[in-house]
Order: sequence, then structure tokens, then C-alpha cells
Amino acid sequence: MSTVEINGITKYYGQQKALDNVSLSIKKGEVVGLLGPNGAGKSTLMKIITSFVPPSSGTVKIDGFDVQENSLEIRRRIGYLPEHNPLYQDMYVKEYLGFVLKTYPNHSKVSATVDDIIKLTGLEPEKKKKIGALSKGYRQRVGLAQALIHDPEILILDEPTSGLDPNQLVEIRKIITELGKKKTIILSTHIMQEVEALCTRVIIIDNGKIVADDTPNNLSKKDKKTTSYKVEFKEEVNKNLLEMLPGIDNAKNIGKNYWLLYSNGDIDLRENIFKFAVKNKFNVLSLSIEEQKMEDIFQRLTH
Ligand code: ADP
Ligand code: MG
Repeated sequence: MSTVEINGITKYYGQQKALDNVSLSIKKGEVVGLLGPNGAGKSTLMKIITSFVPPSSGTVKIDGFDVQENSLEIRRRIGYLPEHNPLYQDMYVKEYLGFVLKTYPNHSKVSATVDDIIKLTGLEPEKKKKIGALSKGYRQRVGLAQALIHDPEILILDEPTSGLDPNQLVEIRKIITELGKKKTIILSTHIMQEVEALCTRVIIIDNGKIVADDTPNNLSKKDKKTTSYKVEFKEEVNKNLLEMLPGIDNAKNIGKNYWLLYSNGDIDLRENIFKFAVKNKFNVLSLSIEEQKMEDIFQRLTH
């Protein structure tokens, strides 16, 4: 049985549809990256999985427990790092973690557990400080520690590395990689390299819908069948006209008269592009075949 079963989740905020009939199942041990631009619905989905926000329709089950009906069972199983991690600025690190642990029923050996978690998240040197005095990187570690304190099987981490400097980012990723060996993780990000570095599975979400679901590796491989061309014209060119070019499925403007043209195939279309330009009296200033990177796949799928 899979750990997380998401079935037909739709969420409206007033008139606005944030999630549109999302279904998804996540197995024990997977490290899933929810990837998508701002406003895609990542945080909303996570809030629904953690039972903080009710869906408009659909169900989420964790180990068979419905999140709406068994919030205590869910709380025991899930550790959640919210996007804007609300920490008590005036509490000391150790005091805060002890406080969080005590909010769980049947907690044991508070002091020993808090010490373990402080070690695990690298908070040792800062443990006597007030949370408000910590750097963003250390505050994020406190957030992780708080999510881990009751040893949940599933971790939901909403943009765990956002706003961190490059060193802090490396450190937090290391911790997440370690955690991924033992736990099921769902993390959200809008950074491509993050899913490539951390995740066993990528789910790309755009406008409240899942537009791709695969391993990072397969996703790049599948897309090998797509070729893209970067063209600079001297003149302004109409998008519709470019998309009528035989073999070109999609045109994306990436700067003044700069275009990315996508084709579903691996036939070299450069000659066609030149002929098209000549026929329509456009001047081609540069033209190259672009290598397909995760970045491109993401951009194409989310536009
Ligand atoms: P993401 O985390 O991918 O950036 P969100 O889940 O935060 O996306 O938001 C999805 C959509 O729902 C956005 O259009 C956002 O403006 C809207 N939204 C999110 N939370 C609320 C809310 N509390 N009230 C109204 N609209 C919201
Ligand atoms: Mg978000």
C-alpha cells in the first residue's frame, strides 16, 4: 500500500481555483520534488496533505487514514516545514524544541530526544541562542528540527532551501539527503537543480495541475525527442507565424526578437528555419540548436 494517496483534490479560494483535480500516490521511501512556478499550487497541496487546509473536493489518505477525519493519526505520521516557517522568536532553540515535542501525545524522554535532533540538524553551536537571533540558515534548521522531533515517517518540506545562501543551501541539502534514506519526503521548490540533486521523483505542477510525473533521469531522456532552436531575428516576428513553421510545435519569446522554437522530433530543422525567414523577408542574426536541459523541460511544460 502506498503511503500517501491523493485522490481528485480540487481547491478553490473563493473564485480562484488553486488545485484542479489532482490525483497522485506516493510510496514509502520516495523523495518527491514538487516543482512549479510561484502560484502553481504547491503550498496549497502540502497544506491539504498535512490537514491544515480542507480541500474543496477530493480526499487524501495517509496509511489508509483520511486526513480530514483522523488528524491525530496524521499529525503523528507527518513532519511539516511550512513555507513561511513561523517560529517563536523569543524562545531559545532548545526550549522551543522541547515545547514542540511536548505538544505530541505520548512523547518520551524529552531531553534526550531534543539533544539528538539538535545534533542531527547541526544546531549544536547555536542551541543556546534565541531563535530571533539566528541566521536564516539556522532558523531553517530549527524548522527542520521541529518537523523531525516526533520521528515522523513522512516529511513535508515547503521550499526548505528558499532564501538560503549557497553554503547554507549545501548544508540543508545534505541533511535532507540523509533524511531521505530513512523517510518519505515531499518537498517543494522552484529550483531545478534541487530536484535533480535530491529527489527520486519529480512532479511538475502548473496552474493547479500535474503536467509531468517521472524520475529526473527519465524526464530528461523522454525529452531527447524534442529539439529546440534559439533564433535571433533582426525584425519583430509574430509568434503564431513561427508556430506555423513546419515541424515547429511551440515558440517562446525569450528577449527582444529572440525566440526558442521547439519541435517534437530530432530532425534538424535549421534549414527550414532559414528558408522560412527568407520567404517572409526576415533576417536571421543567429541560429543554434539548444541542448535540452531540465530547465528547458520545466519551462516548456509550465507555459
Ligand atoms: P505555490 O506554493 O505553488 O506558489 P500556492 O499554493 O501558494 O502556490 O498558491 C496557489 C494559488 O492559490 C495562487 O494563485 C495563490 O494566489 C492562491 N492562494 C493561495 N493561498 C491563498 C489564500 N489563503 N487565499 C486566496 N488565494 C490563495
Ligand atoms: Mg508556495
